[in-house]
Amino acid sequence: MTGLPPPSKKKLGLVIDLDTCVGCHACAVGCKQWNAGGITGPLTDEDAYGKAPTGVWFNRVHSYEVEPAEAQPAMTLHFPRSCLHCETPACVTVCPTGASYKRAEDGIVLVDEDKCIGCKLCSWACPYGAREYSEVEGVMKKCTLCVDRIYNEHLPEAEREPACVQVCPTRARHFGDLGDPESDVSKLVAERGGVALMPELGYQPVNRYLPPRPRRAGDGDQGDAATVDAPAPADARPGIARWLDRVLSR
Ligand code: SF4
Ligand code: SF4
Ligand code: SF4
Repeated sequence: MTGLPPPSKKKLGLVIDLDTCVGCHACAVGCKQWNAGGITGPLTDEDAYGKAPTGVWFNRVHSYEVEPAEAQPAMTLHFPRSCLHCETPACVTVCPTGASYKRAEDGIVLVDEDKCIGCKLCSWACPYGAREYSEVEGVMKKCTLCVDRIYNEHLPEAEREPACVQVCPTRARHFGDLGDPESDVSKLVAERGGVALMPELGYQPVNRYLPPRPRRAGDGDQGDAATVDAPAPADARPGIARWLDRVLSR
């Protein structure tokens, strides 16, 4: 089993705005394009144009029709899912070879493919479904937080951020240091009430999701989330965060 470094001061991660994500999949495609040509090597697809295509994607966008419940109005929700770079990641501590590891300097969780034996323990341990097994290479892969972009001095400074953040047409994705309360991403999370997914599990994901903003009165016939009379839930996070936790727990 693999140990963890002491908690890092720097906690790099993503903040994803569920209010402005339009489910266009640009982030998923941009991620695949960059990473297939970068340090992670090919992210192969099998039966790509057939009836049951499969393949390796570090970022997948799931779209749901959410039914109204409690203070949550009906809505279409687009949910991009990638590794959350947990502070105490189960995927690392279960790894028998040290292939999965967490960087001490910035908290990024990575896989050393030379040490991976393809046992898949990490993918069973990750409660967020963020691990991707390459059938072709026989090793586990995952979001690298574009470690080969963000520190890449061969790129112009403005491009030293994850590919998915760069390509998002609605600026729904943000990157930065969530360990620094003065960073832009930390301020955004504080301002918008950003949430962690399934915090009760104790893995302390670093990434945050910004819940959809309450609808204004008169926006359609689903009512105003802020005015629906519902009992206060034991979990005080927005209803959409609890709904996403239920979806992820299935
Ligand atoms: Fe959502 Fe942006 Fe990804 Fe499109 S690129 S699916 S808007 S996060
Ligand atoms: Fe590991 Fe999953 Fe957490 Fe990513 S989201 S660090 S793969 S446990
Ligand atoms: Fe993919 Fe990089 Fe975004 Fe992770 S940070 S989802 S590797 S583009």
